Amino acid sequence: MSEDSPKSGILARCEARGIRLTEQRRVIANVLEAAEDHPDVEALHARASAVDPRISIATVYRTVRLFEEAGLLERHEFGDGRARYEDAERDHHDHLIDMATGEVIEFCDPEIEALKEAIARRLGYRLKGHRLELYGVRLKG
Ligand SMILES: [Zn+2]
Repeated sequence: MSEDSPKSGILARCEARGIRLTEQRRVIANVLEAAEDHPDVEALHARASAVDPRISIATVYRTVRLFEEAGLLERHEFGDGRARYEDAERDHHDHLIDMATGEVIEFCDPEIEALKEAIARRLGYRLKGHRLELYGVRLKG
């Protein structure tokens, strides 16, 4: 899913935050920016090393950690113990995980969004962030 609002990409946000971008970090940032899924470190390494074979998996680990700590990436874990990443500036959405295939389906439902706000308010809070993950198996037929 491509981003159509004029939010700046990971590279631009790195520069804005003063994160020094080496050539290898730049490749990894580009891979993350181009990702339309929720890659884990191994998948990111495969994509980055296709561009520059000198990039090690350790470099990918360090770079995603750096980006995550800078708030550029959001980390997910979809029930399999593997950390997956996506651009933190993507429009808000929730995830449905197909337990048979591991496929991750993104959705955004205005009723759920309103319900989350209402629940927080009822408990005396103003909602500042939230995550929802649904796990399911595909219906037959
Ligand atoms: Zn997502």
